[in-house]
Amino acid sequence: MGKDPKLIVVSNRLPVEVVRTEDGLKYHPAAGGLATSLQSVRKQRDMVWLGWPGIHVWDDKERKEIERRLLKEYESVPLFLPPSDFDLYYEGFSNGTIWPLFHYFPQNAHYEAREWSAYKAINAVFRDKILEIARPGDLLWIHDYHLMMLPELVREALPEAKIGFFLHIPFPSSELFRMLPWREEILRGLLGSDLIGFHSHGYARHFLSSLLRLLGLEQEFGRVITGDRVVKVDTFPIGVDVGRFETAMGTKAVQKELADLEDQTRDRKIVLTVDRLDFTKGIVERLESFDHFLSENPDWHRRVTLISLAVPSRTGVPEYQALKKEVDEAVGRINGRYGRPGWVPIWYMYRFLPFDRLVALYGAADVALVTPLRDGMNLVAKEYLAAHPDGTGVLILSETAGAAEELGEALIVNPHDTEQISEALLHALTMSESEQMARNLPMLARLRRYDVVRWAEDFLGGLEPEIAPAKQQVQVRLDEAGLELLLEAYRSTNRRLLLLDYDGTMVPFAARPEEAAPDEELLTLLVRLVKDKKNTVVIISGRDLETLQDWLGEIGADLVAEHGAQIRRPGDTKWTRQTTEAPDGWKGELRPLLELYVDRTPGSMLEEKTASMAWHYRRAEPDLGDLRAKQLMENLEGVIANTPLVIMQGSKVVEVKESGIGKGRAALRWLDSDTIYDFILATGDDVTDEEMFEVMPDGAWSIRIGVDRRSAAKYSLRGTSAFRSMLRSLVGD
Ligand code: UDP
Repeated sequence: MGKDPKLIVVSNRLPVEVVRTEDGLKYHPAAGGLATSLQSVRKQRDMVWLGWPGIHVWDDKERKEIERRLLKEYESVPLFLPPSDFDLYYEGFSNGTIWPLFHYFPQNAHYEAREWSAYKAINAVFRDKILEIARPGDLLWIHDYHLMMLPELVREALPEAKIGFFLHIPFPSSELFRMLPWREEILRGLLGSDLIGFHSHGYARHFLSSLLRLLGLEQEFGRVITGDRVVKVDTFPIGVDVGRFETAMGTKAVQKELADLEDQTRDRKIVLTVDRLDFTKGIVERLESFDHFLSENPDWHRRVTLISLAVPSRTGVPEYQALKKEVDEAVGRINGRYGRPGWVPIWYMYRFLPFDRLVALYGAADVALVTPLRDGMNLVAKEYLAAHPDGTGVLILSETAGAAEELGEALIVNPHDTEQISEALLHALTMSESEQMARNLPMLARLRRYDVVRWAEDFLGGLEPEIAPAKQQVQVRLDEAGLELLLEAYRSTNRRLLLLDYDGTMVPFAARPEEAAPDEELLTLLVRLVKDKKNTVVIISGRDLETLQDWLGEIGADLVAEHGAQIRRPGDTKWTRQTTEAPDGWKGELRPLLELYVDRTPGSMLEEKTASMAWHYRRAEPDLGDLRAKQLMENLEGVIANTPLVIMQGSKVVEVKESGIGKGRAALRWLDSDTIYDFILATGDDVTDEEMFEVMPDGAWSIRIGVDRRSAAKYSLRGTSAFRSMLRSLVGD
């Protein structure tokens, strides 16, 4: 390839379709929203588009010719997908499973293992092609529901790749999503991305809640940590090219169309509907609402015409053929019932209209009736507004279209509510021009600001590295150079103190605390560290002493259990209880309150330790757990005021403990001892470790494990696996 691609856009279909005709191959560029929006990006960046050219080709020579032309004239790389898997992947899993399920039609979705396998196989074909054409530093932007496994597949092969993913359809509520037998795989597939974009905040919320409920992954301001990577989830509502519609309205071709239309409809009001003929668009329901309107408002007979444009879609699929029949019949019934000589209530067109004719329809329509049952965004709603730059016209919009989140000034309706739609129609037909403009002009201003170009730029901007706001105290990420410095310091010193937290630092969190036992490799690494005479290794944990004893009792390290309440030095036979001023018997007084929360929160449990009691809710339903945790904290605050007890909230745990007990005070036992350490390392991941970081002297290596956030630690490492590899370097592996 001659040019070094900087942005690789990947979608199921290329923005140009190759068609075989009697006169040979023809190339038809598509004018869809995505193709238009990326036109402007093309001008600013090197870009190639990778996707299926819409044709199966067996002949090698022909393939080469298509490849050559597409690359030269359309900066596109065609991917010839294996026909054996294609239908299973496309009609099967993509359009027979994901499409209906994600649009809240679970009854239309089927689940076939064969189709799922083909889906994965085709995603892998895309991956292979990407590996062929991508160079280090390229950005990948993967589009839509056909390719949800692709981010992970690419990530496995190119761990450093920059990958963005955009879903153009809704992401359903987690209750629906979980019906999918391969739900975890799909979530993991998507999590291979660095940035995942949705059209609406609601879809992003559903996705995040699926991650939490199905994979136990939490989010913080739309950032999700998975392994040692951070994945950003955000909302980027796609816009339209407002200028293009405005300009088109002034052209001769459109003006002529408009004049023709006016001639035919005379002084009748026009209500317009435009959809692909798909069950998600609510076409039959809408016709019923129009029927209801006509039956309730006889004075509007002869004064209104519904122009209904339905674009043929997936015409070979029996369900779509049945839908077409249903729509045809409904139109026939209404026209038969209300039509009079000189007045046909519904003008029904079953075809695709070119841009000019569509714009003329938009311009002529007094009302646009856009009532999909579910729609990722719906561009028709935005295009209608763009075709009325003076702010006239009325948009009736379904609350279940992604566009409704931005177009709140429209007449918003429930697409299932026949009565409400009929009333909205009456309101729209009688709306004053000043009200029309008061509603539309603010929407138009927003559409102009956040247009289709901004959308693409915004998303690509989100893929660039984040710059932390200056005032935030985030730590320095220990990169390779930083780790090298740490290793140098380690190697050149002789009295080293290593204060190491356990959970979330050495091992990842497990759903049940008892499942987070150390593995063989970890034990070996720790033993090797302890054996080095230059090291004092202290495992400083919040765990109870029995567990620590059981798991780590034999490695010869100093052990601190229960956040410092119990300490055991190597060679000691017993643990030493650290004393505090808390009165005996405080636990007996608080136990009933904590037990009440255990009873009220299924999945939660109470843990009692020497100097503390902890209520754990990692296995509770996440929202309920968070709510109860807040309530418990409030309750406890009242009860323990003026006692030497404190409350701490850790990761999915609320703990009451004797004050004076903490990892900070525990760490001081070593720091204030007679030994002068020339190398100090402190690592930990949650709030209880902050006390330890706070008492670290200058020159200590304090490292927070996890993504960057406020912390008293100086440095950060991405996750437990990064920590593990640091341990390996320390012992010289
Ligand atoms: N469209 C068109 N000609 C037609 C009907 C529709 O070009 O005869 C275009 C319309 O301008 C819009 C797109 O098809 O850009 C439909 O997009 P939308 O988001 O409303 O629905 P989708 O078909 O993507 O579900």
